[in-house]
Amino acid sequence: MTTSMLDQALVRLDDAAQHLKLDPDVLEKLKYPRETTKTRLLIRMDDGSRKSFMAWRCRYDDTRGPTKGGIRFHPEASIDEVETLAFWMTFKCAVMNLPYGGGKGAVQVDPRKLSKSELERLSRAYMQAFAGIIGPDRDIPAPDVYTNAMIMGWMADEYASIVGRVSPAVITGKPIALGGSLGRDDATARGGFYLLRHLETELGVGPGARVAIQGFGNAGSHMANLLHGVGYKIVAVTDSRSGIHAPGGVSYDDLIAAKQGAGLASLADSLPGASVLSPDDIVGVDCDVLVPAALENLIHEGNADTVKGKVVVELANGPITPEADAILAKKGIIVLPDILANAGGVTVSYFEWVQNRQGYYWTVGEIHDRLKASMENEGRAIWLLANDRGISVRSAAYVHALSRLAEAIEAHGTQQFFTS
Ligand code: NAD
Repeated sequence: MTTSMLDQALVRLDDAAQHLKLDPDVLEKLKYPRETTKTRLLIRMDDGSRKSFMAWRCRYDDTRGPTKGGIRFHPEASIDEVETLAFWMTFKCAVMNLPYGGGKGAVQVDPRKLSKSELERLSRAYMQAFAGIIGPDRDIPAPDVYTNAMIMGWMADEYASIVGRVSPAVITGKPIALGGSLGRDDATARGGFYLLRHLETELGVGPGARVAIQGFGNAGSHMANLLHGVGYKIVAVTDSRSGIHAPGGVSYDDLIAAKQGAGLASLADSLPGASVLSPDDIVGVDCDVLVPAALENLIHEGNADTVKGKVVVELANGPITPEADAILAKKGIIVLPDILANAGGVTVSYFEWVQNRQGYYWTVGEIHDRLKASMENEGRAIWLLANDRGISVRSAAYVHALSRLAEAIEAHGTQQFFTS
């Protein structure tokens, strides 16, 4: 029998539970998604035909507050992936002590094959289908893979027309003009960046260290910019199509120009010593810091042994399978895990929601300062816990989150588990 992604993710829960004295009811509550709704979105294409797309929204657990999590548009999206991502969001929000539970949504679609107006109709159809589940005090979506601020803006607009009032706190990652927060665009990368910089001494890396980045979208491109900006050397970058290996380093401006032009591989002609890199080969590139910033399970049993970096910063969700994680641990490679390293995105999403609700907006400096403090505080606590218990940083992050979740579950009282 094949193991589902969610089953694999739940291994982390069992592992964390061994380090805490927990009421078994806590685990029973966290082992299953609370509710997952699926539907088919039927939209009108530009040529007049109709096409339908599978769509899901999962609210995994809302013990600590309304569920929070992105919406992914991807041709291989599945219910298993959505539920797993929602499970990770539950733990991520607890890691950062945000007053949220975990959720996630997806549409099974390749958005690159849709026109802008088809994409808008699909985004609005998603909100029409799930408006009964979603809401500022119930479930708050955000962008994820292949969704962005423009799509969040359409969804916020659709929600406002359904409920008959402007309600910006229903969704985060919106355009600034519609109540989005300053600093949300690069927040995921910036959170990982602050964490890495805070732990540089312990990790034995710093400016001058060589970085390989898998994925050059929101998370990956901003990470390249931030690390390049403080003197790290970006030696390899891939996206879904191609990549570049430049042992002498590549500038962020060159990467952006290539991405918007002929593709990352085109840089191989202009940089000395550079070569084209296939997306599959970045994992084994010689570097000090490997940054997976694409999709799940791209570092697996078959390639984990080739990883050369000292540190892996998981900006993507679930980029390392449990088997690969064990291989990396044996090699002494430290993994800064997704539920901590990429939590900057949801943290600034929380700031956006707070600003929407208070109707008062912060400067980008205030956002950065608050994000930095959160990443450093939670990161330091988890680092110390890992050292104290002699466990991996990932296990420590799960223990840190699970103790908060357990406290909240117990505080609710056992009679209320599945009734709210
Ligand atoms: P994005 O759509 O902006 O970018 C995804 C990138 O991955 C694209 O460059 C794509 O070409 C690339 N890619 C896809 N398959 C690849 C492959 N096999 N090899 C190399 N590159 C590949 O998405 P994003 O928002 O940057 O999300 C990336 C990861 O970060 C996801 O795991 C997402 O869940 C996670 N994440 C994103 C946010 C956020 O705020 N955007 C927050 C937390 C976590």
